[in-house]
Amino acid sequence: MANRELVVLGTASQAPTRRRNHNGYFLRWDGAGLLFDPGEGTQRQMLFAGVTAHQLTHICVTHFHGDHCLGLPGVLHRMALDRVPDVVEVMYPGVNEDVYQRLRHAALFHDALLLVERPVVSDGLVSTTEAFSLEARALSHLVPTFGYRLTEPDGVRMLPAELAARGISGPDVGQLLRDGRLGDVSLAEVSEPRPGQKFAFIMDTRLCDAAFSLADGCDLLVCESTFASADEGFATEWGHLTARQAGRIAAEAGARSLVLTHFSQRYEYGTESRLRDEAAEEFGGLITLVNDLDVVPVPPRR
Ligand SMILES: [Zn+2]
Repeated sequence: MANRELVVLGTASQAPTRRRNHNGYFLRWDGAGLLFDPGEGTQRQMLFAGVTAHQLTHICVTHFHGDHCLGLPGVLHRMALDRVPDVVEVMYPGVNEDVYQRLRHAALFHDALLLVERPVVSDGLVSTTEAFSLEARALSHLVPTFGYRLTEPDGVRMLPAELAARGISGPDVGQLLRDGRLGDVSLAEVSEPRPGQKFAFIMDTRLCDAAFSLADGCDLLVCESTFASADEGFATEWGHLTARQAGRIAAEAGARSLVLTHFSQRYEYGTESRLRDEAAEEFGGLITLVNDLDVVPVPPRR
């Protein structure tokens, strides 16, 4: 099992189809587990994908259209049933606090959940851990919607040859990392910068500056691509992206890889490769057009 990967739980926009569940995405990031936009049926899709309630550390909802949140009550219920003992952070558009509260308390169950709710009211940082920070930016949809971006802090990579040349090994390496210096050897002499990895999640939006900011330099970018270019008029009217626009965002933002998902049911299952082709005309990096239960690894560090 990779340490960092996207587990795709569902890929349908608006209504599930025979082959595609409502949205749902689980990002495994070392010891953290971030669930994005749990649509209807997410609890069962987690079962199929081997994702357990105990693995959830964060839940991020972009907006409260049903295909992005109707699975939240089921997931919360399951977390309670499985007696998840840990604190789980929940992010969502704060202006719709009433909708969140209805979903939070949609059913009766023994409720011992330890949720830390972080309603998002403006662009900026929404959560930090030692391993990453999570920021949100308002997108351009029909209802209040935020995209999310996970950023790992930059670090350093030790250079074994340089360490060996100076006779540094074992616990001394740890001390050098902590103190930035060991005797007359500086950390910079025996290491090189290691850029942190970045992930972005962009759902339900027209083209907007925030989408490009969220995607900036991402290792893995998940982007809705509801429509083909021929239906761009619908995309603009209903606050969505075409696959070509998703490709443009990835290209202009310098993303390394792009996941296309959230497909309109108007495109018959198996014929969506045209969406990938349209995105590929804009973006030369790796494009993965996902189906339910696909697993997409975060690309290895540069
Ligand atoms: Zn929507």
